[in-house]
Amino acid sequence: MKAHRKEHRRRRAPASPRVQGSPDFHRRRRPNGGHPVDPPSRANLLAALAGEAEKGPLTRVRLAELARKHGAPLSAVQSLYSFYFPPDHGAEVKVCRGLPCALRANGRAEAQEWGASCLGYCADAPVMWKKGRYFSLASGRPREIRESTRAWVTAHAQRLRAYREAGGYAALERVLADPDPASLLSAVEAAVLRGMGGAGFPVALKWKAVMGSPRPDRVVVVNAHEGEPGTFKDRLILEREPHRLLEGALLAASVVGATEVVIALKSEYVNALSVLERSLRELDEASVDLGFHGNLPSVEIRPLVGSYVTGEETALLEALEGRRSEPRPRPPFPAEVGLQGRPTLVQNVETLASIPALLHESPDPTATGKVAKVFCLTGDVETPGAYREPLGIRAASLIETRGASPSEAFKAFLPGGLSGGILPASRLDIELDFDAVKRNGGGLGTGAIIAIGKDRCIVDVLSNVGEFFRTESCGKCVPCRLGTAKLSDLFGRLREGKATESDLREAETLAKVMQETSLCALGQVAGKPFLDAMRDLREEILAHVRGECPARICRAGGG
Ligand code: SF4
Repeated sequence: MKAHRKEHRRRRAPASPRVQGSPDFHRRRRPNGGHPVDPPSRANLLAALAGEAEKGPLTRVRLAELARKHGAPLSAVQSLYSFYFPPDHGAEVKVCRGLPCALRANGRAEAQEWGASCLGYCADAPVMWKKGRYFSLASGRPREIRESTRAWVTAHAQRLRAYREAGGYAALERVLADPDPASLLSAVEAAVLRGMGGAGFPVALKWKAVMGSPRPDRVVVVNAHEGEPGTFKDRLILEREPHRLLEGALLAASVVGATEVVIALKSEYVNALSVLERSLRELDEASVDLGFHGNLPSVEIRPLVGSYVTGEETALLEALEGRRSEPRPRPPFPAEVGLQGRPTLVQNVETLASIPALLHESPDPTATGKVAKVFCLTGDVETPGAYREPLGIRAASLIETRGASPSEAFKAFLPGGLSGGILPASRLDIELDFDAVKRNGGGLGTGAIIAIGKDRCIVDVLSNVGEFFRTESCGKCVPCRLGTAKLSDLFGRLREGKATESDLREAETLAKVMQETSLCALGQVAGKPFLDAMRDLREEILAHVRGECPARICRAGGG
């Protein structure tokens, strides 16, 4: 029964109705007169289950009907249902408990009792979701976030005509007219483009791995399933720069020789779905004019339910195949055995959207330093938001110029979301690029910078982070499943003034074991913020062992 409760607690419900892709476009755009291939029946089952679950909790009878209809065992349907849909998925109101929201909600970062792990509107923190609408609680009263409404998003999304006038699709036209994968690959290589979904893996290496496959049925999967607190850049790109993303995905597909692009879209991103569908229609209508007709890979949008771990690339493939989104052991890597066993390039939204700019603005393929990055700046800054800046901008500069806050106001910062660890304010002068942040003991991750003010309690912050990882662990492997729970318990005891130095030593060992033995990145990084804090902010943690909270926030310090 205990395990069952854990199962339900860690899932997050989709916030709004899901719609299945754009099948008409899929059919029309299939190149060379081929026929669309129906997704496997298990994937259809998951989509049907999601549609039914949206109406309310499902009874055993209804689950059995779905099982019969899709020719699946009842146990398989129940397994999917318990994994993807917690008992509160039908709740009409959810309050975000992600770190940026928790920081701005009440001055404390402790996790709230229930709610969503991240609602994706971190710049308007604290945020509440109510019946499909998003509200900021920043002023104390709910105010609907204008940028979250369908009307606003639709009116401000990039249109094909404007994109073309700015030079958009010119790179794709050139590549289709004179296919030369080597030159595009060398442009990506010269720009030192790295994956921007969190791992920072060199893009050219990934492409080469797919190109090296002897199988011709290659596919590009666009990972549009971000979910880490503080990260909302992909939503913005999907909603505001859809053609930039589509061109990047089609360019990548052309280079690696893929005949199909699948956009694996977080189901909560309903505005992005309608913008993408409109953009695909625009592209379809202009395809003759652009010389694309019959030359492009098919494009399919697949809205997917799921939580944070669904954004892990192999978990995403599992979800696309209609299974529980639990990461796969590697090797084999998706480049060899990916979606339905095919060679697969899984690439993040921002990474793909960066590619056209490399080609438009860089006729010289050897030019470097052309890569810009969207940094999501949240936490205790005056003006949180998403800012596109050159990779390598200094953290202090970003916080001061974009966040309108003096660097002296901070105790620490998270340089790359919760998975990038915590650095002390003394490192605010570092350059925000993958290698420099790593050299300084952090990880750039998705580029979500969360600033922690001087009056905050680091144990309180760790407590929020620990609860996030405990909630989001899929439970597949022991080090992560048990390790995240133990670390979270420790932070609770520290807050209460009930932890000992021996507990801290044990937890350090545990966090290192998790780094080395967890199956996927979630478990590998879950203990990093704690290890970082023990390295750089040790005194504040030890004060809690003595029953003191210097910030007077935790019960240990009388807060
Ligand atoms: Fe699941 Fe955690 Fe293991 Fe990843 S590390 S597979 S999230 S239990």
